[in-house]
Amino acid sequence: MNRKENTENAIIFAQKNHPHSTFMNEAIFQAQKALKKEEVPIGAVIVQNGKIISKGFNCREKSQNAIKHAEIIAINKACKKLKSWRLENCELYVTLEPCPMCAGAIANARICKVFFGAQEKTSNDNLCEKILTSTRLNHKCEMIHLTEFDEPCSQLLTQFFKNRRKKN
Ligand SMILES: [Zn+2]
Repeated sequence: MNRKENTENAIIFAQKNHPHSTFMNEAIFQAQKALKKEEVPIGAVIVQNGKIISKGFNCREKSQNAIKHAEIIAINKACKKLKSWRLENCELYVTLEPCPMCAGAIANARICKVFFGAQEKTSNDNLCEKILTSTRLNHKCEMIHLTEFDEPCSQLLTQFFKNRRKKN
């Protein structure tokens, strides 16, 4: 299966009648944008009161910047939009369970909920959840694994690494 077919399948698979499908599909769409640019396909959107206020996708390669993860880009845009570092009543949708750096940013931005698609398999010790639910933080953030979206989100990542191995 070529990459194009595979990404199309991912979006079709995720277009189900799910309460979170609008936002998660947008995050998947962002991940697909990253994939087209040969970046690791991870996408994120931030939602406030039922409306998308910012979007982002991973662009570490193009920017040659280690912190340009999808979540950081989306948080950055949301802060600019709301003119506040405090993202009140905001929820983050991301295609992959966030890394510890992004978990720190999510906690600092006071995001209240994180919905994610694929589970991070390389560090299966729930680092992100540990950070976000740490009793040492005044701010608590809830993490929700949207299992219905695990497959399309993982599929994008698997395809990316398969293609990269072929190239090398
Ligand atoms: Zn990250």
